[in-house]
Amino acid sequence: MRKTNYHTHTARCFHASGSDEAYVESALKNGYEVLGFSDHSPWNYNSDYVATMRMAPEELPGYLASVRALREKYAGRIEILAGLECEYYPRYMDWLRQTISENELDYVIFGNHFYRSDEDGPYFGRATKDRAMLRRYVDSSLEGLESGLYAYFAHPDLFMRCYPGFDADARAASRELCRGAKQLGVPLEYNLMGALYNDSYHVDGYPFEGFWRIAAAEGCTAVIGVDAHAPEQLETDRFRDEGLRLLRGLGMEIADEIPLRTRRRDKGSRDQRP
Ligand SMILES: [Zn+2]
Ligand SMILES: [Zn+2]
Repeated sequence: MRKTNYHTHTARCFHASGSDEAYVESALKNGYEVLGFSDHSPWNYNSDYVATMRMAPEELPGYLASVRALREKYAGRIEILAGLECEYYPRYMDWLRQTISENELDYVIFGNHFYRSDEDGPYFGRATKDRAMLRRYVDSSLEGLESGLYAYFAHPDLFMRCYPGFDADARAASRELCRGAKQLGVPLEYNLMGALYNDSYHVDGYPFEGFWRIAAAEGCTAVIGVDAHAPEQLETDRFRDEGLRLLRGLGMEIADEIPLRTRRRDKGSRDQRP
């Protein structure tokens, strides 16, 4: 299995650090063959809301230029991809689709952080404390997955960051999410940033083992995502190895590739998806 990572942030999101190139250097040092940048997507809000955890729309061209320059510079040593991590905000999906296509992004991943929009919607990682919010997480996740836009579902077990215990509702929610993802053919991400957080704060958030047991039982495919917010997070294999051990023990299929919107010509492949 190749060592790949499609979940990498940059300092543009205000809560990550290090230069873009430092992420590439760290990935190279640790033997990664593919490094996909998927910084938090900008959104073109209708309101005057200014997000403090994502780049502004006007920063997108500079972000993509930087990633593509690194792709050229490091060609032959590591494959670099240009993507975004996006929520599912129904009222802005036309804008997002257009942005993805105009900018020829290689892929986007689905991080269902906020309900409907971060302008006014709650953060699922803090607010999912009861059945009603759990319902919103599941419904919006399934709607997002059904859009067919996302290469994979990042930290699908995000709700376990704050949901009190893995009760019958949490188990049912997990089953619904996994069944939906399986049906739609969308892989689920085992998130290493979450594993680092669990370890640092001695908590049992995501990735949550009970969720992954259900994912395995439902026949889902896993992708390991570093969710790097600092270059050095690409230099350690501790959480990756732990994750691989768990997922393999559960008999899960683990993918080192994700579906790309664009086929890289420099790999000798001629087919380009419409
Ligand atoms: Zn982040
Ligand atoms: Zn992320």
